[in-house]
Formats: sequence, structure tokens, C-alpha cells
Amino acid sequence: MSIPILELNDVRKHYPVGSRLPGQERRYVHAVDGVSFSIARGETLSLVGESGCGKSTVGRTILRLTDVTSGQVVLNGMRIDGLSPRGLRPYRSSVQIVFQDPFSSLNPRMRVRDILAEPIRNFGLAASAADLEAQLVDLITKVGLREEALDRRPHEFSGGQRQRIGIAKALATRPDLIICDEAVSALDVSVKSQIVNLLSDLQRDMGLALLFISHDLAIVEYLTHRVAVMYLGKIMEIGSRKQIFGAPRHPYTKALLSAVPVPDPEARRNRIVLEGDIPSPISPPRGCRFHTRCPLAFARCREEEPTLAVLAEGHSAACHLTEAGI
Ligand code: SF4
Repeated sequence: MSIPILELNDVRKHYPVGSRLPGQERRYVHAVDGVSFSIARGETLSLVGESGCGKSTVGRTILRLTDVTSGQVVLNGMRIDGLSPRGLRPYRSSVQIVFQDPFSSLNPRMRVRDILAEPIRNFGLAASAADLEAQLVDLITKVGLREEALDRRPHEFSGGQRQRIGIAKALATRPDLIICDEAVSALDVSVKSQIVNLLSDLQRDMGLALLFISHDLAIVEYLTHRVAVMYLGKIMEIGSRKQIFGAPRHPYTKALLSAVPVPDPEARRNRIVLEGDIPSPISPPRGCRFHTRCPLAFARCREEEPTLAVLAEGHSAACHLTEAGI
């Protein structure tokens, strides 16, 4: 079996909150609470869930923008969670991110040429000035823009074009993995599908692994190979696109999918409306974290936390009902 590009083993990220008064216990936000998954070369795994479920924090721990509280982050077979900034440097080029708002991640005073050249120079990836120029032309055309775009500044482009430049910037270091954090959420519907198609094409042509963080399940269904559904810092269900969209087993997954608009006006979906708000991640509910909103909750759910159990090859869910084969 080939080594996965990325592996997360029981990753936790707890942030301390407030100041601790004498005699008081320190309180923590349980942003990520024991998340494990892997991504292979050429694969897209989508992390989905309502805002505040911890999916973006997972992305930040992989990029080492924040340190993990415990657990392992393994990139290309090497643990990176404990590395110093210096030790991390060789791996920085392997993982890149595409943000939701490309405008804030592109320096408005720089020409696109300089924005793209910066990471190439930082990682010493150009052998000569001619090589650098060839790489810049290759990057900008790969994302569907013309060579002239190199000499313009970010404000001269539309939102979709700016996102293409953001993708070109992410590709500049020849990464193995790109994290797309709500990368198409701010775009118009037609532009959204163009960018999603671009990401799919690049992935196919370059063998990239993609971690697609999104709350937009319609886009996820179109793009992804596998899906992990998160709630309050934990994975509730993980499986292939077919398993999650065709035969979801966890009540939370079913509720999320029931809210996705159906293109066919004749088709009807039984909408499952979740009551109440997501509980505070400072003190997640005892037992199943979803029990305060689950329409199927029963006594055991309030006491005992279900573990992520295998239902079929590649498909797992954390629910007492699926454990019982229901
Ligand atoms: Fe609902 Fe209970 Fe399953 Fe949790 S364990 S999802 S509360 S039925």
C-alpha cells in the first residue's frame, strides 16, 4: 500500500479561554477533539459541518499555523507536529492553502508576477531567471489566465480571476497537498463551478491531494472522493462520496443532506430540521455530542459516547444506532 500524503492520528486542539482566577480550573475550547483520517495522492477528502465544528482548525493544524494539543500529523511519512520552525521548513512547500477571500491573501501593491515569484524564490525552486520566467508563465496559464496577467495587480481582476491567482500561488511551490478552506464560498454560482472544475483538472493532471473544507454540500458532492462529517470537534461519519451521499447512516449527516437544495423541483426531500444551537465547545455535552439536537436520541446517548465504528469498507459512523445495525 502506498504511503498516504497526509495522516492525522487522534489530533486534538484545545485553546485555553479567559484568565484563571485563583482556585479556578482553566477552561478550554475543545476545537478539535480526536480527529483521525488520511489522504492519498490524487485524492480529495472533504471536511464538512456547520460553522464552528472545528474543520478550519484541522486545516490550521496541518499547516502548523497552530500547534496540536496532542496527536500526530504525518506528512509524506514524517511526523511534523513536533518540528521546530526550522525543522519544518522543508515541509512548508509540500502543503499550501487556498483561502476563501483571495483578495486579502494577495498583496494589492504587488504585481501578480511578484506574488507568484515570491514562494518560488523563498524555496529556491528556480535555477535561473529564465527558469523563473518559464515557471511564472506555466503557472498563470495552468489556472486559465493569459500571460499578460502577470504584469497586473490583484485589484484589476474579478473575484473568480483572483481566486485563480490564489490557486497559482498555492501551486508555485509544487505542493503535494492543497488545503482549500471555503475556497469557493464567496464566489457566484457560475464562477464557483469554473473554479471547482479547475481544481479537479489540476488534481487529475498533477496528482495533487486536496483537503476541501466546506459547508457547501452540493459542491462537495460534485468534487470529492471521500467525505468526513464533523460536529463539535469530532468526526461523526466518514466514507466515500457514494456512501455519504447515497446511504448516509449518522443522524447528523442525514440532517445536513436533507437541507441541500434539490435541482429537480419535482423531487422532494424530507427535510430534517435540527432544533437548537450547537452547544459550546467549552463544555461539550456528555455522552454523544449530538444528543442535544438529535431527533433519535435515547437514554444511552446522554451517558455514553459512541465511538467511530466501521460499517463497511471505508465507511464509519459514531452512533449507538448504527452500532446496533439500525
Ligand atoms: Fe443520535 Fe444517539 Fe446516535 Fe448520537 S448516538 S447520533 S444522539 S442516536
